Amino acid sequence: MDFDRSNSKPHVAILASPGLGHLIPVIELGKRFVTQHNFNVTLFVAPSPTSKAEAQQLQSATTPKIFDIVELPPIDISNIIEPGAAVVRVLRVIMREIRQSLRSAISNMQSLPNALIVDLFGTESMSIAEEFNMLKYIFLPANASFLALTIYTPFLDKQVEGEYEEQKEVLRIPGCSPVRPEDVVDPMLDRSNLQYHEYVQMGVEMAQGHVDGFLLNTWEDLQPKEMKAFRDDNQLGRIVKAPVYPVGPLVRPSGSSGRSSARKLFDWLDIQPSKSVIYVSFGSGGTLSYQQVTEIAWGLELSQKRFVWVVRPPSSDSTDAAFFHGGGDNRDPCTYLPEGFTKRTQHVGIVIPMWAPQMDILSHPSIGGFLSHCGWNSTLESLLNGVRMIAWPLYAEQRLNARLLTDGLGVAVQPKELPVKREVGREEIEEMVRKVMEDGKDGIRSRVNELKNGAQKALCKGGSSYDALYLIVKQCEQKLQIVE
Ligand code: UDP
Repeated sequence: MDFDRSNSKPHVAILASPGLGHLIPVIELGKRFVTQHNFNVTLFVAPSPTSKAEAQQLQSATTPKIFDIVELPPIDISNIIEPGAAVVRVLRVIMREIRQSLRSAISNMQSLPNALIVDLFGTESMSIAEEFNMLKYIFLPANASFLALTIYTPFLDKQVEGEYEEQKEVLRIPGCSPVRPEDVVDPMLDRSNLQYHEYVQMGVEMAQGHVDGFLLNTWEDLQPKEMKAFRDDNQLGRIVKAPVYPVGPLVRPSGSSGRSSARKLFDWLDIQPSKSVIYVSFGSGGTLSYQQVTEIAWGLELSQKRFVWVVRPPSSDSTDAAFFHGGGDNRDPCTYLPEGFTKRTQHVGIVIPMWAPQMDILSHPSIGGFLSHCGWNSTLESLLNGVRMIAWPLYAEQRLNARLLTDGLGVAVQPKELPVKREVGREEIEEMVRKVMEDGKDGIRSRVNELKNGAQKALCKGGSSYDALYLIVKQCEQKLQIVE
């Protein structure tokens, strides 16, 4: 293959799997390479009903078009995938099936990228980077605990008998905070499910040592214990064979999530007292049962606190029912919220169906708390705005994130039992809302502000995340010189 090497700018290709939560941080990563380091970037997005449109909208929200977004051709996986396949299985199959088109898209590029960064579901595309003699990185849109658990699961698979959730002891990962059996990631909940095997395989591929590094959407000081364990050959470092670069938080800037589309909401927020409103949202895919929606409505009403609640029609199927399609059910919230709720709360709260400009809401000075499903993007957006949380994990790795926020970092309160195990009642919700909104002596407010400052420091020139990305930049520049 004859590539044009005359373009002397380093060039990075990034491969993103479907899902808004995966796209948001890779777009921010791409922007950093372009704006801070003058790189060329090509973002390959795996086909899904919405991914390219989402990616373009996200990229153009604050900046003019600064890199190319290439949507790989649609694929039909209906003959490969079993009915009712779980999310991790579907994502892995999509990412496996697009390899051929990724390969041909790369081979048709005028200038060959110096590095390929794949997200966690695309680890099988590393061989393509190898074939084209590119540097290879894996980007996890997640924190250090998630990398630790994922890469150690192939070992747990050999050590642990029976289901993880039923273990009496915590799961130990060398040098890292132990994982409570009930907090394991979704694919570990059922060892007979195909998505468990996909997840173990992801861990195996990550540990094979063929990559040049892992990028994490976190920063050094957030989880120093895990970061140290990755580097220590007597701890997890004996398995994590490539350097781990914490380059986060990669979060959309405020002003990017569509404030103009919700003028009424922001006019209302503008006249509320500082830090007086709790924002309630379960991410891009979270759904709750009818009973749970009812209890949240009553809990908010009883708390008498101001609120903004992004509601999605209840689903009894699963907690991630809206993950791939955003729900598609646009019923009027009055049809499933308790009778009279919106009328009774009209002066203290706003209900928004389906979707809201979250980053702009969280950065508004009236917001003081966030009842969140603890998706990692939502978590980072909350921390970066100094907003305390009620941790309400639903699916994916959200239970791990919630444990970090509560026991690890002390910036969130949580229900007594995991919401996926037992419905959380209105009195408990009322109590949590009051606790997080009223400035108690528990130190949550000062800790969340410390984290906010730490995150901002990490991103500045000379900060740990800036420096971590700079190391990758240097490797790409060296690679460029070698091939020229
Ligand atoms: N989001 C939003 N409006 C909504 C719901 C979600 O802007 O009504 C954004 C949110 O700001 C975050 C992303 O969608 O950036 C969701 O990612 P996260 O990792 O929190 O959760 P996921 O949706 O992947 O479970």
